[in-house]
Amino acid sequence: MTATIVGFPRIGENRELKFITEKYFKHEATEEELKERAKDLRQHDRKLLLDSGLTNFTSNHFSFYDQMLDAAFLFNVIPENIAGLDLSDLDKYFALARGYQGKKGDVKAWPMKKWFNTNYHYIVPQFTADTDVKLAGTKIFDEFVEAKEDGTITRPVLVGPFTLLQLSEFHGCVKEDFVGAFIEAYARIFKRLEDLGANWIQLDEPSLVKDLDEKELALFKALYEPLLLQKGKLKVLAQTYFGDVRDAYDVLLKLPFDGIGLDFVEGRKTSELVERGFDDGKVLFAGVVNGKNIWRNNYQKTLDLLKKLNVKNLVLTTSCSLLHVPYTVASEELEEDVTKHFAFAEEKVRELVELDALLKNQSPEFLRKNAELFEKPRVLENAELHQKIADLNPEAFVRQPEFAVREKIQKQEFNLPLLPTTTIGSFPQTREVKQKRAAFRKHEISQEEYDEFIAERIDSWIGFQEEIGLDVLVHGEFERNDMVEYFGQHLEGYVFTKKAWVQSYGTRCVKPPIIWGDVSRKEPITVRWSVYAQKQTKKIVKGMLTGPVTILNWSFPREDISIKESTLQLALAIREEVLDLEKNGIRIIQIDEAALREKLPLRRSDWQSEYLDWAIPAFRLVHSGVKPETQIHTHMCYSEFNDIISAIDDMDADVISFEASRSNLEILDELKEKNFKTEVGPGVYDIHSPRIPTVEEIEQALHRILGKVKKEKVWVNPDCGLKTRGEKETKASLKNLTQAAQNIREEL
Ligand code: GLN
Ligand code: ZN
Repeated sequence: MTATIVGFPRIGENRELKFITEKYFKHEATEEELKERAKDLRQHDRKLLLDSGLTNFTSNHFSFYDQMLDAAFLFNVIPENIAGLDLSDLDKYFALARGYQGKKGDVKAWPMKKWFNTNYHYIVPQFTADTDVKLAGTKIFDEFVEAKEDGTITRPVLVGPFTLLQLSEFHGCVKEDFVGAFIEAYARIFKRLEDLGANWIQLDEPSLVKDLDEKELALFKALYEPLLLQKGKLKVLAQTYFGDVRDAYDVLLKLPFDGIGLDFVEGRKTSELVERGFDDGKVLFAGVVNGKNIWRNNYQKTLDLLKKLNVKNLVLTTSCSLLHVPYTVASEELEEDVTKHFAFAEEKVRELVELDALLKNQSPEFLRKNAELFEKPRVLENAELHQKIADLNPEAFVRQPEFAVREKIQKQEFNLPLLPTTTIGSFPQTREVKQKRAAFRKHEISQEEYDEFIAERIDSWIGFQEEIGLDVLVHGEFERNDMVEYFGQHLEGYVFTKKAWVQSYGTRCVKPPIIWGDVSRKEPITVRWSVYAQKQTKKIVKGMLTGPVTILNWSFPREDISIKESTLQLALAIREEVLDLEKNGIRIIQIDEAALREKLPLRRSDWQSEYLDWAIPAFRLVHSGVKPETQIHTHMCYSEFNDIISAIDDMDADVISFEASRSNLEILDELKEKNFKTEVGPGVYDIHSPRIPTVEEIEQALHRILGKVKKEKVWVNPDCGLKTRGEKETKASLKNLTQAAQNIREEL
């Protein structure tokens, strides 16, 4: 083996898995159909890999929802209330992923968190003292056998025990309680795979790229020392990604792993570590092709790097799973001059094959052709914009007057009741909404017809919001396909793809636009529909924008300038939009920073200097120019904020709403402790599940919030936008929300 991949996308080139799974959820497809379709997809992907010239690759990178949830099921980490339900195994699995409400019971979904520094979200396994860890599933074996029967011996991939424990949550128990059981269960997997004819297993241990203390390293050793004694003839690859393993490098070398997978793209210290010395008895899986971004690899640079390493047994691979990039550039209709700079999953596989040939001194034309791409700069720079950014003075990053003064002014200005109710912005993007947009895009309906439709949607939902008594309304974002792409389309410097979907969680995919050049605002973006909506009601309608850090984090960024520079360009563009909204009578403006945390360095020691020091000021630059009485909201989702609470307060927004219900409102203690100044709307129910929260549940959540946060600071809202939900459940849920807020107001 000389070239391979860490993993491959699994949602399907045309999102086939998404569509069949969603059909299954709606009872429009059977379990057999779903499984059959999944099998076809796996087979299709294996063929694609083989056709691209790759002979060694993974299996079990496929998932019906998420690889962490797969591991939980494989190891029997299933709560009793699910285990006992009269549902098929697959439905139990989906119940933990999405919640289940039906004749057979009422189950809340497990929490979901961002997968390291990506926009993928994993399901967080929950351990209790009763959890009985043992080998209980067969998926990893089934998918190996399936490929084998097809003629390919694959390398099954599985989350390693260390990362599995590091990322899970423990209630009434600790990680260490499960070490013995995991060693036994993984050892049984080794044995079984060996019997089935596997040569290698890949255990993904991305947790090794974080800052690790002695205790954590001890846990790693406690797991692997005994486990690796039981590997028999099976070779074990410890695969890391998303950074370098500076704390664990020596431990990895000492343990009898057969292969070590390291990330040379994001791992700033990876080459330094390897140059210090590697073990000739091990294979280095060198992650040199970027698994996260979409630009072509610079072969000359890669070859120079590899030469420097001077390692005996080398396999070329991706820096992480290709899960994080779209399938293929071939599906795109962009000009050749643009697409020749892109490599998606399929093209990256070919890059590996070509690099492999070059390393073997074959096919020098690959190198020549590749070098042409990097001969001259790809884009012309906007010199004026660069100067503007260089000239920004410190005052541009500070809003006046200070928070406490504004808060008083705004309380008078808006005169809202205690516990004001609102939503996060979007309302259901029903089939009808999507169809109209598609028809408009294909010129099947006119601009007027489309606009009329959007206006009618807005009217109808403004009416509903008034009817149930929400306090701060939204227009519903019906005109937007996506909270980043919509903005990108109105900005200079962006390139858009047609089918470049990337899985975000479960069946949800996103299509990140590509930052191609310098970014600036071409025209007003949201003013028209915000102003329209505001005219339909006497209540306040929030303007709705996406913040610069999120736009950047949910785009494929440039690699020829820093992400800080791109973010400041975006901040100036959104700042113009904020001022435009204000000028047009919009009095509350929400600037979503859903993905603020996403690019936070994985090592805490780098947080401030490498990220927060410019990301937070970039947000402040967006709103520092508004009047004191204009209220700035922001929104964040799915992540742990506990450790960056102060940075969030430093964004200096007037109100923040965030995802909290799935993580059980844990964040409240931290808000109290840090004396959080910003008014807060911790989500009172989980919108990622079709479940309708009861009035009592929402009241309970509010009681918990009011136990920690002063009532004058509390807002009431769902935990995220409602675009993925159905209309019926959304209306029922929001009715319960306003009812619960009303009930608690009366108590207060
Ligand atoms: N305003 C956006 C919406 O409601 C926010 C989405 C998000 O946080 N992901 O859809
Ligand atoms: Zn959100």
